[in-house]
This record gives sequence, structure tokens and C-alpha cells, in this order.
Amino acid sequence: MAELSGGIRFIKGIGEQRAKLLARLGICTLRDLISYFPRDYQDRTIIKKVLDVKDGESVCISALVLNSPRAARIRKGMELLKFRAADDTGAVNITYFNSTYLKDKFKVGEEYVFFGKFTRKPGGVPELINPEFEPAESAAAGTRRIVPVYRLTAGISGKVLYSAILQGLDSVGDPFPEVLPESVRTECGLAHAAYAYRQIHAPSDAVELAIARRRLVFEELFVLSCAFGSMKKRHRESTGSVMKSADPAGFYKSLPFELTNAQKRAAERMMKDMSSGHAMNRLLQGDVGSGKTAVAAQCIWYAHLSGYQSAFMAPTEILAEQHYKTFSSLLAPFGIKVVLLTGSLGAKAKREALQMLESGEADLAVGTHAIISEGVRFKNLALAVTDEQHRFGVRQRASLSEKGDRPHVLVMSATPIPRTLALIIYGDMDVSILDELPPGRRKVETYAVDESMRPRIERFTRKLVGQGRQVFIVCPMIEESEEDSGTAAAVEYAERLRQDIFPDLSVALLHGKMKAADKERIMTSFAMGEINILVSTTVVEVGVDVPNAALMIVENAERFGLSQLHQLRGRVGRGSHQSYCVLMCGTGDAEANARLKVMCSTNDGFKIAEEDLKLRGPGDFFGERQHGLPEMRLADLSCDMDTLSLAQEQAEKLLISDPTLIKPEHALLRERVEELSETALN
Ligand code: ADP
Ligand code: MG
Repeated sequence: MAELSGGIRFIKGIGEQRAKLLARLGICTLRDLISYFPRDYQDRTIIKKVLDVKDGESVCISALVLNSPRAARIRKGMELLKFRAADDTGAVNITYFNSTYLKDKFKVGEEYVFFGKFTRKPGGVPELINPEFEPAESAAAGTRRIVPVYRLTAGISGKVLYSAILQGLDSVGDPFPEVLPESVRTECGLAHAAYAYRQIHAPSDAVELAIARRRLVFEELFVLSCAFGSMKKRHRESTGSVMKSADPAGFYKSLPFELTNAQKRAAERMMKDMSSGHAMNRLLQGDVGSGKTAVAAQCIWYAHLSGYQSAFMAPTEILAEQHYKTFSSLLAPFGIKVVLLTGSLGAKAKREALQMLESGEADLAVGTHAIISEGVRFKNLALAVTDEQHRFGVRQRASLSEKGDRPHVLVMSATPIPRTLALIIYGDMDVSILDELPPGRRKVETYAVDESMRPRIERFTRKLVGQGRQVFIVCPMIEESEEDSGTAAAVEYAERLRQDIFPDLSVALLHGKMKAADKERIMTSFAMGEINILVSTTVVEVGVDVPNAALMIVENAERFGLSQLHQLRGRVGRGSHQSYCVLMCGTGDAEANARLKVMCSTNDGFKIAEEDLKLRGPGDFFGERQHGLPEMRLADLSCDMDTLSLAQEQAEKLLISDPTLIKPEHALLRERVEELSETALN
């Protein structure tokens, strides 16, 4: 019996040459070979009528041979065998090349099942070239099955590969090595390895194939989850900054509001991380408005109790300034000194800030990426927080950490990603989720409308402004290739609103190309209620807090992803007023409209993310992070999410009972996990 980890040269038909070719497909060991799963299947269990066959389709027909096959030599070394066959709906021309030995195989008047790719010119008789065939009577055993299709490479035919795989399966010892712990396998109702590996390559029918696939997808995701789980443990660095334990009640009492349970749970978990002796490495995910800032504030407060400094990095100057004010007021009761660091800071102010950080006089630096520039030095940075982490590269976040000695790391994201997916994308991080909004928030009423509604929307805008509310209007970039045109469109649009539509209201414009000081002036003025309508490109996408804003209008909403629209919508509904979001749809595109409908039906960012995942696949989420995610052999994250959560649950449970997978019954699993950690995940 062959070892799964051994080579494949023992297989009949696999010599040195082919072994080399197979290595190109990543097949080196016996396990590689039997894990080389089909990329697709041809369902030959279904027999089509000739009439229904389409051009280019690969299907089975069952047809009577009408005339005896004629052989013709068209040139030296090229012989044809031609005949015609038909079912009760039509005829088909069949041609074999260089196969005259088949001449006597076909009897006129007898029925055969043919499988092949059809060509069909309009009005012509369909053609089949070199189809596989079998007498109709015996077909049940032969061609009439589900046939696997493999990704191939030059020099390796499907036949050679398939034969090798089947031999490989036969050579695996009995009992078939089982990677899944027996308790996991039975608890989750998963098939045995032997059955699954056989059925995935040679399925008896669609049901058995599905059973096999589920088990193998689980296996793949389970091993991956175990690998991430143990990697997290291993990478857990010790830290010099161990916080002394403290009662959070003192912090809670100082706040102007009562934290939600989700906020408390997350913050107390982080306090535990920071007192553990290991460096915290945690992602805090929470929908817009879920109150991530207060959680960060609690961590900063906690670090300060033990005499440590913190840094908080935000993606834009506007946000940095807003956070600077928030932290200054939240943390003032504890004598925590905050400094602001942004690119547009004057030379003198900057010098002062730098000096205060280096001397330890300042306890918290809030800023843009200016914080990671070279001249910035901390006395004892122990907590590095990055807000809206997707706006920063991995490198930038790492630079922030390098300002301290293995500081605790907290990254915050308002882009909800389904938890299961987050555990894969952020495999090396612990994940906390704020799944609860502060009380008193009303649902933002959302409408997807087209041009015909514009006059009504304008009247509605006027009405809200009349009630003292404020309005955001967001224009997308018109042409992605022309960097300025989004700005230009917004400029023009704002001008039109100002002159023609709302000449009596105060309309202002905010775009990314403006000077920081001008942006700041306009944001301040908007926040103070001096501006009724703020037209902007997506610079307001993140974080800005104006509780009096009650209407968000998004132009050409179909150009935005759902998650981005959700972010934009989060700019309103932050105060006590009923708020609205109007998605102006520029096209009649049904798919775009269906997407926008999702926005109207729910305000839950995690639901929207899951919908985005179903509609557009996981690509968008993975774009968030340049992650060397191992290539999946079988699992497809846009449809295997349920299996993924099951696998993660089971992996977590297993790692609690056997953290290093040292138990003998987990030996095989440990081997696979180590292999994965060494190759794919590093
Ligand atoms: P985000 O998670 O989007 O960063 P913020 O931290 O900016 O959210 O919080 C949004 C708003 O909600 C802020 O005005 C903040 O003061 C307020 N807030 C946060 N937590 C609570 C709470 N538990 N109760 C009431 N208001 C809260
Ligand atoms: Mg925020």
C-alpha cells in the first residue's frame, strides 16, 4: 500500500517524463494526485433530443445508425469514417478521424448513445466529431455517468491523468487515512475520506457527488481554519507593555452616554488582551455609527493608567481633526494630553507636538499618516490604533507599530465583512464585532429612484432644509481614468444647484482636490449648521459626524458597491431626527436596480456585506487586503460560507481541547496544518 506523502512513479503509465509534467500541475505526491479535483463535470446521465442540441454544446444523444459507415482516405495518413444517425427529432452527421477500425462497430438500425461536442450551423444538420459512444443497452454502465473534467497541461491527456488518479485511489491503503477527527466527522455528518475521494473523481450520481464535495470542502476549510488558529497562537509575541488590571467602571462613569453591551464586551476583551503579556493584534469591526471610537478611547484610557502612550491614525485630515476633538473631550477627565499630527500643521505647532510625544508629556497622538513619518518619536508607545484600516496599506500599519516596542495593535473597520470571511482575510488577527447600534437610532429610510423622481426629491430636500435639517449630496467620479472629472462634475453640479435650483439656500462644495484649510473651513461651517447642502465627491465617505444631517442623496448610485453605499448612508441618521437616503439610479439596468433594492430593505451592514458576497463573490472583500490567501482547491467562498462557519467552529473547538494537535489521533491533521502553515500561509 502506498504512502500518501510518497511519489507517484509507481503508477502504471507515469514515467520520469510524465511525472515532470504532472509536477507542473502541482502533483508530486500521491496525496496531490488524489486531491487534484475536477474543475468541472459533464453530466452524461442526461440524454438530449437532437432537435434541442445547441451549437457548441457537449451532451449525450441516443440515436439509431441510419447507414453503414463509409471510410474515405482524404490524404496520406488521414482517413475519415462518416455516417448518419438520428433520433425521433432529427438527424446528426457523425465523423471519426483515423479510426477506420470502428467501421464494423456500428450496426445499421441499432441504437447508440453518443457523447461529444456538437457544431450546428443555422439550418444545417448537426455535426459530431469523434464522439464517445456505447450501445444504448449497455450505456448505463459506460458513457451514461457524470464525467469529471480536469485542468490539463501539454503532454498530459485527460485519459492519462484520469487513469493515474484511479490507480492512485486504488493504491491508498485500507483504512484510508482520515484527516478529520472522528468526532468532528460524525458530528457534522460528513462522509468518510475513502468514499469522498472516490466519489469526487468518479461520482455515481449528482447526489453522491454533492455529499463527497461537501466533505472535501469541509476538510479543506477545516485544515485552513486549524492552520490560522494555531498560527495566531504561535505569532502571539510577548510584549513589554503589560497593563495592570483595572476596573472599567471608572471610565464608564465619565462617558456622556452608556456604552452598548457590544462596546463593553469588545473593550473589556481588549483590556484582557493588553494585560495578558502578549501583544494584542485585534480587528474591531463595526458598522458605521456603532461607536468604535469609544472602544478605542477605553483602550487608550487603559494604556494611560499604566503610564503608556497611544497613537491613533486616521485616513484623512478631516477625520483626524474630528477624532482629535472627540478624544480630547472624552479623555480630558483623566488628564490625558492629546496632540494632533497632520501634514498641514504649521512648523511651530508640529515641533511642539513632536517634542511632547518624545518627552512623554503627551499621552496620545491623533493624526493622519503624518504620524508614521520619520521625525515622530514616542517615549513609550504601547498601543497603536488604525481607524478605517482599509484606507491604509499593510506597510503603513506596520510602520505605526514600529514606533513602539511591540505595541498592542488595534485596527478598526467600518466595512462589515461576514465574520467567517473576516477570520480568513484577517487570519492572523483576533476579531471583535460591534453588532449593536447605540439606542435611539432610527432606521435610515432608503429609496432607490430614477430621474423621473428628481423634481419630487428637490421638493423634499427643500422641505427638510425648511425644518432646519442639512443635506449631503454625493457625486461619483464620472470617468475613473480622468482623475479630475469627478471633481469637475461636482463643481458644475454644485454651481447649478446654487444658481438654478436652490438659489435661496446655502450650497457648498467639498472635494478631494481642495486645500486642507478650505476643506476644514467648509466642514466646520457645515457642522455648525451654516451650510444647508453639502455637495461632495466621496471625501465624506468616512467617519464625518454631523448629527443634524438628515438626508443623503447619492447620484449615479449604481456606480458604487453596496458596502460603499452603506458607508455613505452612515453619514446621516447620527442624530435624533428621522433620516433619509435617496439613491439616484442613472440607468435602467435591472441588475443594478436589484442591488440597490437590497439597500432599501435593510440597514444592517453585515447583511449587506453578505448580500454583496452573494452577488459579487468574495473578490471585493479580499481586495481589502493584499493577502497571500492560499489557493482553494475545491471550496468556493461565494457559495460555501455555511461549510466555512461549520469548519471554523469545529476548528476552534478542537484547538481548545488540543491546542498543539499533539494527541495521536490528530497526528495526520497536525501534519497537514504544519505543511499549510509552512508553505501557503507565510
Ligand atoms: P463609528 O463606529 O462609525 O466610528 P463613532 O465612534 O463615530 O462610530 O460613533 C458614532 C456616534 O455615536 C458618535 O457621535 C458617538 O458619540 C455616539 N456614540 C457612541 N457610542 C454611543 C453609545 N453607547 N450611546 C450613545 N451614543 C454613542
Ligand atoms: Mg469611526
